[in-house]
Amino acid sequence: ATPVSIMVGTGRAASLGVLFRQGDALQALAGAEVIALDKTGTLTEGKPRLTEFVPASGQDRAALLALVAAAESRSEHPLARALVAAAEAEQLTLPAIDAFEAVAGHGVRARVEGRAVLVGSERFLSAEGIDMSPLAADAARLAASGTTPVFVAVEGKASGVLAVADALKPSSAAAIAALRKLGRRVVMVTGDGEATARAVARAAGIDDVRAGILPEGKAAVVAELKAGGARVAFVGDGINDAPALAAADIGVAIGTGTDVAIESADVVLMSGDLMGVVRAIGLSRATMRNIR
Ligand code: ADP
Ligand code: MG
Repeated sequence: ATPVSIMVGTGRAASLGVLFRQGDALQALAGAEVIALDKTGTLTEGKPRLTEFVPASGQDRAALLALVAAAESRSEHPLARALVAAAEAEQLTLPAIDAFEAVAGHGVRARVEGRAVLVGSERFLSAEGIDMSPLAADAARLAASGTTPVFVAVEGKASGVLAVADALKPSSAAAIAALRKLGRRVVMVTGDGEATARAVARAAGIDDVRAGILPEGKAAVVAELKAGGARVAFVGDGINDAPALAAADIGVAIGTGTDVAIESADVVLMSGDLMGVVRAIGLSRATMRNIR
């Protein structure tokens, strides 16, 4: 490719809200056979909100929500912010926290008014030895609807499950359909649980799902997808996507995402949605045709 045509292509891409950090990124994106995508904040809005709260029997709903929000108040995670916002909306007074630890890809461990509180995924609480069976039926129902079940345990006892919903971006399903029409294989990679991930993927038109992937595991999924010789693009927005963005043949960051993701990427979608990938591929093919 000649530098002039790449510049023209890159300049036109910028006017479409797609920034390429190097000239050859345009070509690389057009050549990617596999498009691997993060779920939260990439396919979805990344603005989760609490939609349902099922306290275990005998638990006071408001007191438990205040406890959960207190435990999550020092977490940066979008799920944590949704839970804190829900407590604020109900004008609950949060109890003071004595200790706090964020466990990446799992949840939080806190001590609130002398009580041990765990908030997070089913896998996290199970690994901590909590018997989750009393909440299993509700959790399965919540996950099947595409919401993320967040579990809470107090003093070692399962105390409730909260449903956090994060809507698909309006353009996600159309963008996935367009990528497939361009002959690309689309794979969703997420830290969220299998049932929630499947429900969201179905709504977006994706059938290849890698769920329950821990933050360090996303790069390994990219490596596995590359192993057969396919060229792989990864699209993500979060801190935990940075290793996968770096491991991919081409990393694509959502422009509204975290700085760490943007710095790890070769391409930045300023529009904040996946249609940018579709437009960039179309443009890059047109540019390559001009060059040849
Ligand atoms: P994602 O790929 O969905 O951004 P993460 O790797 O950040 O996922 O987290 C994976 C899972 O761990 C989440 O879906 C959630 O179940 C749980 N989790 C992580 N952090 C928290 C938190 N602060 N509060 C509750 N759950 C959490
Ligand atoms: Mg994300």
